[in-house]
Amino acid sequence: MKRITLLGATGSIGLRTLELVSSFPEEFEVAGLAARGSNVELIADLCRKYAPRAVALLDPSAVERLAAILPAPRPELLTGPAGLAAVARDVDADIVVSALVGAAGLLPTMAAVRAGRTVALANKETLVMAGGLMTAAARDRGVTLLPVDSEHSAVFQCLQGHNRGDVHRILLTASGGPFRETPRAQLAGVTVEDALKHPTWKMGAKITIDSATLMNKGLEIIEARWLFDLGPDQVQVVIHPQSIVHSMVEYIDGSVIAQLGVADMGVPILYALTYPERRPAPAARLDLTRVGQLTFFEPDTDKFPCLRLARATLGRGGAAPVVLNAANEVAVAAFLERRIGFTDIAELIERALGASRSGDPASIEECVALDVETRRRVSEAISLRGAGRRP
Ligand code: NAD
Ligand code: MG
Repeated sequence: MKRITLLGATGSIGLRTLELVSSFPEEFEVAGLAARGSNVELIADLCRKYAPRAVALLDPSAVERLAAILPAPRPELLTGPAGLAAVARDVDADIVVSALVGAAGLLPTMAAVRAGRTVALANKETLVMAGGLMTAAARDRGVTLLPVDSEHSAVFQCLQGHNRGDVHRILLTASGGPFRETPRAQLAGVTVEDALKHPTWKMGAKITIDSATLMNKGLEIIEARWLFDLGPDQVQVVIHPQSIVHSMVEYIDGSVIAQLGVADMGVPILYALTYPERRPAPAARLDLTRVGQLTFFEPDTDKFPCLRLARATLGRGGAAPVVLNAANEVAVAAFLERRIGFTDIAELIERALGASRSGDPASIEECVALDVETRRRVSEAISLRGAGRRP
């Protein structure tokens, strides 16, 4: 029986993970749950269904409401950022699924790594912010970081049984998002609703907007660099609108090995949970004759500058990816609140990167401080623009 602590239990990845726990009751049990606490009823349902030993919610008032709804014996209830880290660190678990969204996942994920727990990582922002520190901590503690992101799971699978020294480069696929065919001149006027219509994947709001700007692929380049210890030039991005080839590894002899499947996060999540074994995933099966065509294109980095901005941070050292990530999180939130337009996202990030004078963060605490400072600056820039409400 594998005991799972699930950070981000109420999100898109979190709920899909819990569906898999329900599909394999003999294999998995839930040890701990963590979430922000915006939906207390849902968390109470999850507690009744999965009987975790501990639950951590960021919001203290949500913990009070949860205590009022749940009759004893109830799980241990924790709160605040310290509570999230404690559930990751202290609750006995064989695997911690890191599926909080954004920088909020950094400290709890680090806490799990430092406690020596295997981490199934969906929360790519944590590797973008502190990839060097986190992979070093994982090496020190002998911790495996198992990718959940579909592209990285694909690369991980394509690497099995091969010599790492024989890898020439990896090819990360991207759907291209909802604006792949939208003329560049129209991007400034697209709405939140347009941007939330992802052509192939159903995901949380933040990553869906990141997919529309292609920042998601930019973050994934950085994620891949750390997960697979690659040089900046060894990560290529290929637009593949069907989202069937999840990524590829090209070896020195020119052989390219790909992993294919339907677009269902259940498959990479289950692989991370059962690695190195496989189980029959309760997911649709790939029928290539129905897909018909698989097509591939070069990404347009003039139209989608976020991809260029993210790649550029790889050469600029430790502070730049933290600034990139924080500026992106604030800009995406402002876009979702209709305070800025779609193309303002990349503009704000570029300005934040240009204004950043910080040295490389030498510790997680310095990463957090730089993240907080960048958020403050970008929020201020957004308020100063005083941009009226957008469509
Ligand atoms: P989501 O928005 O659906 O869920 C996010 C979860 O994090 C929720 O449980 C929420 O309560 C919690 N949360 C949000 N802000 C928090 C905060 N400040 N403090 C504590 N908890 C907080 O997000 P998602 O789509 O499930 O994505 C989760 C992570 O997985 C992201 O990093 C995303 O990039 C990555 N990912 C997601 C998918 C996908 O298909 N959804 C695919 C690949 C990678
Ligand atoms: Mg992905």
